[in-house]
Amino acid sequence: ESNLNPSYSFENFVEGDCNRLARASGYAVANKPGGTAFNPLLIYGGVGLGKTHLAHAIGIEIKNQFPNKTVLYVGSEKFAHQFIDALKNQTSNDFIHFYQMIDVLIIDDVQFFAGKEKTQDVFFHIFNHLHQNGKQIILTSDKPPVEMQGMEQRLLSRFKWGLSADLGTPDLETRIAILEKKMYGNGIELPKDVVEYLAYSINTNVREMEGALNTLLAQASLNKKAITLELAKQMVDKFVKNTAREVSIEYIQKIVCDYFDLPIEMLKSKTRKREVVQARQISMYFSKKMTKSSLANIGAHCGGKDHATVLHACRTVVNLSETDKQFRSYLEDLEKKLTIQ
Ligand code: ADP
Ligand code: MG
Repeated sequence: ESNLNPSYSFENFVEGDCNRLARASGYAVANKPGGTAFNPLLIYGGVGLGKTHLAHAIGIEIKNQFPNKTVLYVGSEKFAHQFIDALKNQTSNDFIHFYQMIDVLIIDDVQFFAGKEKTQDVFFHIFNHLHQNGKQIILTSDKPPVEMQGMEQRLLSRFKWGLSADLGTPDLETRIAILEKKMYGNGIELPKDVVEYLAYSINTNVREMEGALNTLLAQASLNKKAITLELAKQMVDKFVKNTAREVSIEYIQKIVCDYFDLPIEMLKSKTRKREVVQARQISMYFSKKMTKSSLANIGAHCGGKDHATVLHACRTVVNLSETDKQFRSYLEDLEKKLTIQ
C-alpha cells in the first residue's frame, strides 16, 4: 500500500515557470530514485500550490518504472500519530523497522514536526538509515529549511543535503492551463472567457481556483443556468468575499510600480538607482507582510535576490517609515491600494 492518489500524476501536473525546477527535479528523482544528488528532495511552497500533488506524482512515476520498489507516501501528521501509538504499545522498534525497509519514503508537510522532539529524533534515525542505504527521501514543507523553526539543527542540516526546490504561485497562463486540465479530466467544457476570468480573478492558489470552478459548476447545475461570464462574476464576488483573499507578489509589484511610475521590469533588474531600489524594497516589504510567500520566493520575484536581502529590505522599510514622514505616507497610500481590491 503506497497511499498514492492516481489522479495526482505528472501528466496531470501542469508545468509553468513557478514549478519548473521542482517538477524537473522530481522527474529526475523518479527516474533514478536514490541515485541522484537530490536526496532528500525537499519541495516547499505555500498552501495549495501543488506540493502534495507533485509528491504523489514522483511516487506514481517511481512505481511505474520500478514496480519492485516499495514506495510509501505518508503525511507527517499520520507519521507522528503512528509513532505515538507505537510508543504507547511499546512497539517503537517495529515502527522504526517498518520505515527503514522502505525504498522511497515520501513525507508530506514536515513542518508539522516542529517542536515535536521525539518524533524528530525517530525521524532522524530513519532518515539516516535510508540515506546511508541509498534509499530515496522526498519531503514537502511550507517553508525552506533556512526558515523552519522548532526543528532540530541536525535534522535541518540533513534537509539541506539534497535539493530544496520551491513551488511559486502560477502565472495567469499556467492558471488557465491548470483549469483547462482539470475540466478536461472531468469532461467539462466552459466558455473561454469564463475560464480566463476565473484564472484572472483567483490568483492566490490553485486549490482556491479549483474551489471556485467547482462552486460555479454546482451553482449552475442547481439553478439550471448556463455558465456565463455574468454568473462567474457573481459567484466570484460571493466566493472571494468569503475567503481571505491574498494578494499576489505580482499584484503588489504592479501596484507599487504604477504608484512610482516605474516599469515593472526595473524591479527585476540589477539597477541600483535610488527610486528603483526604494520601489523594490517596498514591494518586498508588502510581499512579506501580505502574502504567505517565503523570503526566498519574494527575492526570486525581484531579480533573484536571496532571503537575507529581502529581510534587510523589510527592516530598511520599517526603519524609514519611523523616521521619514514622506516615506510613511507612501506606505500608507500603497497599503490602502493593496487592501481595497
Ligand atoms: P499543497 O499540498 O501545496 O497545499 P496540493 O498539491 O494539494 O497543494 O494542490 C492543490 C490543488 O491544486 C490540487 O487539486 C492539485 O491537483 C492542484 N494543482 C496545484 N498545482 C498544480 C499544477 N501545476 N497542475 C495541476 N494541478 C495543480
Ligand atoms: Mg499538501
